[in-house]
Amino acid sequence: MYVNKTEKGYSKMGLSRCRWCYEKNVKKVFTTEKLPTYIWPSKKEDPLYQEGELYLCETCGHLQLQDMTDEFISSLYENYVFIQDIPTIHERRIKFLQTHIGDSIRKDLKSLDVGGGVNSIFFQLPQSKLETTIVDFNVCDKSKEMVDHFIEGDFVQYPFKNKKFDLIFSYHCAEHLNNPRPALEKISELLEEDGFLIIEVPDIEAVVEKRPYYSVFHEHINCFHFEFFHYAFTSLGLEYIASERENFCMHFIFKKSSSKPVLPAPPVKKARQIVESYKENIQKTTQKINQLLGPYKNKKIGLYGAGGSTNLFIANYPILNELCSVCFDRDTLKHGLAIGKNRMEILPPNKIDEYSLDYLLFVYKDIFEIMKTKTKTKCIDLSTCF
Ligand SMILES: [Zn+2]
Repeated sequence: MYVNKTEKGYSKMGLSRCRWCYEKNVKKVFTTEKLPTYIWPSKKEDPLYQEGELYLCETCGHLQLQDMTDEFISSLYENYVFIQDIPTIHERRIKFLQTHIGDSIRKDLKSLDVGGGVNSIFFQLPQSKLETTIVDFNVCDKSKEMVDHFIEGDFVQYPFKNKKFDLIFSYHCAEHLNNPRPALEKISELLEEDGFLIIEVPDIEAVVEKRPYYSVFHEHINCFHFEFFHYAFTSLGLEYIASERENFCMHFIFKKSSSKPVLPAPPVKKARQIVESYKENIQKTTQKINQLLGPYKNKKIGLYGAGGSTNLFIANYPILNELCSVCFDRDTLKHGLAIGKNRMEILPPNKIDEYSLDYLLFVYKDIFEIMKTKTKTKCIDLSTCF
């Protein structure tokens, strides 16, 4: 079924079959508020807003969003994507790799980064002797210069012929795939015997607990949870080696082994528990935010932060759209753009005091702690609601 909207179109609603096991045993478990389909700040006066639908597969336990067309998916990334490069995250990843497969990342082995066209893990391994290949729809110039080989195009369609890899990396790619199974099967096929897959995706269980407003949105078509990931890769014949769960992400190492690993039961029950927590936490935090901000309805209020997660925060708690009239962010690329359904303008932080606001709201505690000493405006920390 299509909801009729021209331009790049709304996504379809409904899900015909599970993206992992292809069974039709999928159940809608939640429908979100209307969310911006392009989550980042933009110039658009009338950006596309649509509900996200969360489905649970009763056969395999995969949590996933509604059906989407390729055209719709490309519209999610049509403008600039604001991604922060956080050094502590790189350090954590490298430490984890060194602990578990330290020898492998130092040797002269064949390695592939699936989806690393912009922020490849290879940038963090400058001393390694790895033979490096990146495959992605777009590979940035800096990456092209750095690697031994690059492939621009569809990984699933690309004919690798008899080429195999000792190490395959994939960071924050699988959750975006409309058809994750062929890609993950291909990864498994391309691994040498005793080769390693190193893969990181968002940890839906952690997100649901602490950032329920960032759990379901159109870019993250697959809402992977730990037990499902373990189950899915085991079913592809890979052996679980290690994992770490930090900073709302799950970082895994699997190994291609000659012996067939024991397949765990499909984690359907776990998926149901995650959905229940999600529903509970959305409801609970909505009540808290409404209670906290209810008395400020006639005040002049601004919001600090204008990233994708803040935009989803505003969409999930509509009182923010009613109350806030302006937004502030350090990132100069965002200035002059807008977020929220009410198209709040994004200004630099040095404009805060000129604006004579009654209150300035913060989504994140660490930023609140820094900024409250730097402005005369009264600051409110919304992270207390989580
Ligand atoms: Zn399934």
